[in-house]
Amino acid sequence: MSGNKIEAALALLNGAIATHGSSLIYPSSFAAEASVLIDMIGRNNLPIPVLTLDTGRLPQSTYDVISEVEQRYDMKVQIVFPDCREVEQMVRDHGVNLFRHSIEERKLCCQVRKVNPLNRVLHGKTAWITGRRREQSEGRGDLQSVERDPVYGLTKYNPLLDWSWEEIWDYIRANDVPYNKLHDHFYHSIGCECCTRAISVGEDARAGRWWWENDESVAECGLHVISPILEKPAGEEGEGI
Ligand code: SF4
Repeated sequence: MSGNKIEAALALLNGAIATHGSSLIYPSSFAAEASVLIDMIGRNNLPIPVLTLDTGRLPQSTYDVISEVEQRYDMKVQIVFPDCREVEQMVRDHGVNLFRHSIEERKLCCQVRKVNPLNRVLHGKTAWITGRRREQSEGRGDLQSVERDPVYGLTKYNPLLDWSWEEIWDYIRANDVPYNKLHDHFYHSIGCECCTRAISVGEDARAGRWWWENDESVAECGLHVISPILEKPAGEEGEGI
């Protein structure tokens, strides 16, 4: 694990704090990348609120790591829920397993359970942190460390963009960081329990998400659309921006 990558990630986080102050948040998935970022935030007492979207369909292992993180770093994770009336209406109209019916219905479920709650918490914010990495999928190959999100109108920071999967795990092991135990069972990308599976050797890291759709071009939940407009905030120079 290169110390330079850790320093660069910390520099990006500190640059984001300097630029956006209390208008910066970290909506976390609590997968392996999140473990690294939360450790950096907790270990260095960085003033970045950590939140997670509780869709109502998360695996128990995600609740377990949230609880572990809160104890380890003396941190309060903000749990954000979807609007219960929206969920009830959706389930009445489309059934409890609507995400299996069609791509459109899966996207509707992600919209109600993830995107709408995220919109609510992003209101009034100017920037957010993500744990996305280029090697996660072909669709993420063109990402930049700092992007302008055209949908939310916010700046998006990706401190782990050039980290490999091995480097993520080197960091977790070296620092004894709490992690989602589904990773011990060959899960890479972790989301809702019903929409995530383990992957086989050689499969794309995001092949375990919505695998039944069999279409890489739509394998995103809508939280992260491609953000092509680059922005270089004042006071940040150099690498990866
Ligand atoms: S990942 Fe699956 S269960 Fe979770 S919000 Fe999206 S479609 Fe619904």
